Amino acid sequence: MSARRSKKITYKACTRCRYIVPSDVKQCPVCGSTTFTDNWKGMVIVIDPEKSEIAKIIGAKVPGRYAIRV
Ligand SMILES: [Zn+2]
Repeated sequence: MSARRSKKITYKACTRCRYIVPSDVKQCPVCGSTTFTDNWKGMVIVIDPEKSEIAKIIGAKVPGRYAIRV
């Protein structure tokens, strides 16, 4: 790590696919949406979407962090 000024990283969730990204990301890397919300609740980490029951429930197709509720 370089001597970067410590800044609290906040996250936001894509309103379309619920993928969670750092707040400075402009476009969702999963679905391409540019609409995000800071008002999300609960986080699930999907490692293997093919085998994960949670991934099926929330419709996750890409590994990553997802908000349970947006
Ligand atoms: Zn998305």
